[in-house]
Amino acid sequence: MRLEVTLNDHHNQHVIIHSKHDSISICLNHFNYSLNFDREGRLITVFQDGYTYQRSEENHFLVKWKTDKLGAPVTMRRALETQDIDEFLEKTRATVHDVFHALQQQKMRDLIAQRIPVSEAKNVQEWIQRILSSTRKIYEQRSLEFLKIYKPISILPPDQYRSLVIQGTEGCHYNRCTFCDFYKDRKFHVKTPAEFREHIRAIKEYYGQSLRLRRTLFLGDANAIVTPQETLLHFFEILNKEFEITPPGMEKEERTAWKAAHPIHFNGIVSFMDCFSSLQKSVEDFRQLASQNLKRVYIGVETGSDSLLSFLNKAGRTADIRTAIQRVKKADIAVGLIIMVGIGGLKFNAEHIEKTVQLLRALPLSERDLIYFSEFVQTPQMEYTRKALEEKVRSLTPAQTKSQLSLIRQQLKTSFPPIPAKLSVYDVRDFMY
Ligand code: SF4
Repeated sequence: MRLEVTLNDHHNQHVIIHSKHDSISICLNHFNYSLNFDREGRLITVFQDGYTYQRSEENHFLVKWKTDKLGAPVTMRRALETQDIDEFLEKTRATVHDVFHALQQQKMRDLIAQRIPVSEAKNVQEWIQRILSSTRKIYEQRSLEFLKIYKPISILPPDQYRSLVIQGTEGCHYNRCTFCDFYKDRKFHVKTPAEFREHIRAIKEYYGQSLRLRRTLFLGDANAIVTPQETLLHFFEILNKEFEITPPGMEKEERTAWKAAHPIHFNGIVSFMDCFSSLQKSVEDFRQLASQNLKRVYIGVETGSDSLLSFLNKAGRTADIRTAIQRVKKADIAVGLIIMVGIGGLKFNAEHIEKTVQLLRALPLSERDLIYFSEFVQTPQMEYTRKALEEKVRSLTPAQTKSQLSLIRQQLKTSFPPIPAKLSVYDVRDFMY
């Protein structure tokens, strides 16, 4: 449903209100300023004059913009401080208030009545009213509720930022890779089925209608697939019972009708997996999970070099990665592989390129699979930093990192036969949930 109104208080600006099944957007000034909210009236993103503002469930606000550095476009990011958040929310609310005011005028009601059924126009007004009641305090309260249900969501692959995370496990059962500090704040824990059910109940209550925005079910945390098979199958049964998952094999028209009849639905279940502990699972185990709607597993492969894996203190070696991925693929589950770029610095540069290309070429990948290249973002607290200093591993310059990435991509593209998986770049600094 699309509504068009004119804001007199804003120099007769033209406003388009786009009400979709999962969200509402208000666009002003020929789309130079657009605000997006979920079905509960909570802010998701704002685009204004080349700046993108995002709000996370933990109530972090991030602004991103593009700039030019030495002739190349670079993405800049900044977390908003409390005062910036106040100003930003105030401006957002003032704009929405003006739109609401315009909608309430008799003239606008006539306009609405001509274009859309009055009942739907009322829905939009109710929705806008809800948006107006979302102050910073309400967002803060909401983030506290979120953290009662969830351990912080540390990371997701980029195509899963809009998934619904369900933490069957918390943390990483290994937690010793030198370059990873995503789960250092928590102990590994596998929920009992009763805890898992209660977690889902709380999640549904928390999200309400904004669940419509979520596309897949992401079974977290770091490597939930490590859960013993019996408990894991129990988790999958619960997920299939609690959520509507799009049945496979429907024709386009049938699928559209099914989705319309199930406004809150998901395209399947996905999860992270590691390639060392998952060796306990057989092809048959993965087939059981596939039959319960496991569609894809995301694997932090990092590199095809065994000596670099050892330097990173990552468990398992490339032979394990090959075995694990072969089993997953035999069960008809897609994979999303994450390769780190720049990791291991100059010392491992050549070997990382050569062995990673070699490993990826040897895997039974298909068009459904994804390969992500994620630039290594080093922090002083990481064990990696201490070890790199001790072993005199010099970091790559930005130009060397870029060259490493393009060499790997180039060699994969010119492989014969060519690698069918989709290749993309992944920046962990963009992650927000
Ligand atoms: S990289 Fe994966 S396996 Fe290693 S500590 Fe992090 S989450 Fe755990």
